[in-house]
Amino acid sequence: MTQGECNCGTVSFEIDTKMTDIYICHCSICRRSTGGTGIAVSIVRKDKFVWLSGEDSIKTWTKPNHDWQTSFCEICGSSLPGINDAQNFYIPVSLLNSRQENLKVKHHIFVGSKASWEIIGDDAKQHNEFLLE
Ligand SMILES: [Zn+2]
Ligand SMILES: [Zn+2]
Repeated sequence: MTQGECNCGTVSFEIDTKMTDIYICHCSICRRSTGGTGIAVSIVRKDKFVWLSGEDSIKTWTKPNHDWQTSFCEICGSSLPGINDAQNFYIPVSLLNSRQENLKVKHHIFVGSKASWEIIGDDAKQHNEFLLE
């Protein structure tokens, strides 16, 4: 079991599967949302994920005329897991409480809009926009 929580601890969750792959999105919306180089997430099937606390403190915001949506704690503002697609949640991996030696960056997406000052230093695959598999 892997657990994670927001900065204030109100919202917490548990994942019952081993995550291995990290996707980092460098798009301008994720960068503005985090104030950094983007967001690092892992993808988990919905039936392997459960909220432990604080579900009523989760707020979402959808960018107008866009399908980009963020979920965040209404108290501390931390980014939270959200709906990736019909079967999966995305999990911002920095919310996890324990060291995750099994996690490794697998794909960088929207590298075409990364910050001019960011230098990507790993050997994960880089994609200009979406990951097309
Ligand atoms: Zn919080
Ligand atoms: Zn993005």
